[in-house]
Amino acid sequence: SRIVTAYRQRTPGSADLARQAADLLPSGITHDARHVDPYGIYVARAQGPHKWDVDGNRYVDFFGGHGALILGHGHPTVAAAIAEAAAEGSQFGASHPREIGWARAIQRLIPSAERVRFTNSGTEATLMAVRLARAFTGRSTLLRFKGHFHGWHDHMTSGYSNHFDGSPTPGVLQGIADKTVLVSPGDIDAVAAVLKTNPDIAAIILEPTGSSFGQVPLKPEFLHGLRALTQAHGALLIFDEVVTGFRTSRGGAQVAFGIRPDLSSFAKIVAGGMPGAAVAGRKDILDLLDFAAAAAAGREKIGHPGTFNANPVSAAAGIAALTILAETDANDVASARAAELRAGLNEVLTQERVPWAVYGTTSGFHLFMNPQGRDITPATFDPHAASMDELKAQPAQLSARMRLAMLVNGVDLNPRLGGFTSAAHQASDIADTVAAFRESIRMLRA
Ligand code: PLP
Repeated sequence: SRIVTAYRQRTPGSADLARQAADLLPSGITHDARHVDPYGIYVARAQGPHKWDVDGNRYVDFFGGHGALILGHGHPTVAAAIAEAAAEGSQFGASHPREIGWARAIQRLIPSAERVRFTNSGTEATLMAVRLARAFTGRSTLLRFKGHFHGWHDHMTSGYSNHFDGSPTPGVLQGIADKTVLVSPGDIDAVAAVLKTNPDIAAIILEPTGSSFGQVPLKPEFLHGLRALTQAHGALLIFDEVVTGFRTSRGGAQVAFGIRPDLSSFAKIVAGGMPGAAVAGRKDILDLLDFAAAAAAGREKIGHPGTFNANPVSAAAGIAALTILAETDANDVASARAAELRAGLNEVLTQERVPWAVYGTTSGFHLFMNPQGRDITPATFDPHAASMDELKAQPAQLSARMRLAMLVNGVDLNPRLGGFTSAAHQASDIADTVAAFRESIRMLRA
């Protein structure tokens, strides 16, 4: 098609690198979300709201480092903190002052974080959270929600992009998959029924604004319902705030909705754009990682090594980013930019008479491409009234072409054609993106 031709013409350097990568990396990539047909862009550098590919094309970036970059790329204070820490050493094999500052910076924004344990990724953080929950409760089964993503470890694979029947994905043991009960998101009666009939539920873990940062949104009442039910049945409530943490509000979803989870997982923003993550929550639960507390309770401690846990460079970036979020209006600025963007994109859809809708909350946005061809307008569309299947379904070819068209027009969206705004996006970036969206729709029609 013309769009693919235009894309190939603009990106010969990326095409060449993709050809080299194909012989080295499975699918030529290092993260499934970077799989683009015919090939993805190769980025040379990024600054603020923009990134540039190896061919010198500039993109307004809404991938946002998978959500990590609420301050944009290379925020000067964060970049300086990283450079200073890196010059002092990247791995001490010892405790260091910055890990204390980092934990304090988290606690300042997240009241439920009585204790913090650092890990290297969100996947590791949810793995530790569910291990803590199982050890603390002496129960083994997890209650999770269809479509919710918590990383790629064995306890979290079924029920994400497929395997909604709970069966294990390749390489995961049946016995592990058997210890997860999958429930439809938002169905509080189903949760109540599981907790009533299954005394083995150790914890409920969820993305508190709904899967994929609210692509399938949840109502706060549902979260309050989960809090009450878990308390009544002796199960733990784990908020996976890897993406909502420090974004849904500076205190994450838990502060925004006034709910105190027992445990939370954080990654992305928590490490200021560097690798790093944490599990945080009740002291009596995190005490299972504490030598003295475990011994005093007569319990076996949970082991937790990790070469790069709380490494000083990630700690420095995390402290810098969280301090900016605590002391400035950066979180609100990012949200305001997303509201402007959602309004601008919806205006294009209305003017061009495309029956799609852009929706979302705070600093995120999602494009609903109306796979069933319903008679909707952006003004009438209510994602809470749509089914998960409808919200998640993507007309595959159409969305792939739309993604390429947006790249040709200088905008990088995520594979679901949504994304994150940052405090670095300016009004001009929003205007450029709205213009690119209009042009992309016209290209799709041509
Ligand atoms: N949990 C949620 C809600 C996420 O969005 C992600 C990553 O996108 C993860 C967990 C996994 O985090 P990581 O990619 O750092 O392993």
